[in-house]
Amino acid sequence: IKRNPGEAEFHQALREVLESLEPVLEKRPDLKEAGILERIVEPERQILFRVPWVDDQGKVQVNRGFRVEYNSAIGPYKGGLRFHPSVYLGIIKFLGFEQIFKNSLTGLPIGGGKGGSDFDPKGKSEGEIMRFCQSFITELYRYLGADTDVPAGDIGVGGREVGYMFGQYKRITNRYEGVLTGKGLTFGGSLGRTEATGYGLVYFMEEALKAVGKSFSGATVVVSGSGNVAIYATQKATQLGAKVVAMSDSNGYIYDKDGINLDTVRQLKEVERKRLKDYVSIHPAAEYHEGCAGIWTIPCSIALPCATQNELDGEAAEVLVKNGCYAVGEGANMPSTPEAVDVFLQHKIIYGPGKAANAGGVAVSALEMSQNSMRYSWTFEEVDAKLKNIMVNIYHNASKAAQEFGFEGNLVAGANIAGFLKVAEAMKAQGTV
Ligand code: NDP
Repeated sequence: IKRNPGEAEFHQALREVLESLEPVLEKRPDLKEAGILERIVEPERQILFRVPWVDDQGKVQVNRGFRVEYNSAIGPYKGGLRFHPSVYLGIIKFLGFEQIFKNSLTGLPIGGGKGGSDFDPKGKSEGEIMRFCQSFITELYRYLGADTDVPAGDIGVGGREVGYMFGQYKRITNRYEGVLTGKGLTFGGSLGRTEATGYGLVYFMEEALKAVGKSFSGATVVVSGSGNVAIYATQKATQLGAKVVAMSDSNGYIYDKDGINLDTVRQLKEVERKRLKDYVSIHPAAEYHEGCAGIWTIPCSIALPCATQNELDGEAAEVLVKNGCYAVGEGANMPSTPEAVDVFLQHKIIYGPGKAANAGGVAVSALEMSQNSMRYSWTFEEVDAKLKNIMVNIYHNASKAAQEFGFEGNLVAGANIAGFLKVAEAMKAQGTV
């Protein structure tokens, strides 16, 4: 904490992981001796840079760019870019740290990294978004490469932004390579990448539910957010027979007791880039409430927080449980506060932590890298089947690791341990680097 002052989210993420690793290090003094913990918490490289760009009024704007290349023990750095005004080094470090374990859990050869900017894409024109993306990559390109560091999207970075960054990278380097994932389908993107995080979350949770004789079929579900992860989690949960009754954005939430009409949400958010508030003018029977935290007061059996970090606190967790919620699956990264996680564990709620449950996005990103290397594309069905298989394996590996180290039923500890062990073995074998 002394070495990283003021980085609250980073401290929170570290604390959670380090607590679950205590019994591992007791059993494995060799890892302690190799200094794995001391090394794994320190990013291999942190890049901070200026991103100047000119707005539509001709005024110079300056944002700050970040890329934290956290750990490359098991593969090239891999992790998304976030464009949001709340971004600072502590957010990128928490996300990068979590990414190490998540990527390891996928079973694919990818190291951990994360990046982004405090740029706010809201209200910007197409031209401004493009100029910003070009300026961002004009500095970052020198640290990237298909075998070195391969970013993807995250909050505020979707297919459009990835396209602009890829175009600029290609122009500067004169290389056509899979340096970013989440690309458009006409230039190396993978079928199924857009859907991957949301679908993967539901596959993971379906497997966890199956273990106790439950399923999405017939369940009432609340999904926070209305971005990439939320939309495809809603779609897959609905396909499996659930009714999703609420979604949110950063202003408020909608409640539609007959089930959310996802086509309307997609039209509003993906096409028109409008606010969720407009949903009720198309579906007058639905309700809109200002403020997104209230979404957790809606009774449901399964909650899927898919917006942002610390969006679900202890109080909200208590309300969810009181209203009969028996499963929580995190599509977002660290959406539940430590107090909320305690509530879930105390009440034996089926709790799928983000680093395991939302690993489907990066897993399909790694499949995109494979397809780019082969210069070959798999069908949607092939990618989807691989994704499902990966998510089912992550659930079982986390569950098994929890049992083995005395955390029976605790998927947070299990995911941390299973993810850690592979990276730790690789770091030990590679010597003190
Ligand atoms: P998007 O930008 O597509 O959507 C984010 C959604 O969350 C939007 O509805 C947004 O509302 C809402 N939101 C963002 N910030 C806040 C905030 N501070 N308070 C309340 N609501 C907020 O991002 P993604 O769907 O890609 O990402 C969502 C989460 O999933 C993030 O935690 C991300 O790290 C995680 N994740 C994403 C992956 C991916 O493949 N995309 C992979 C793994 C994890 P508004 O529309 O008003 O901005």
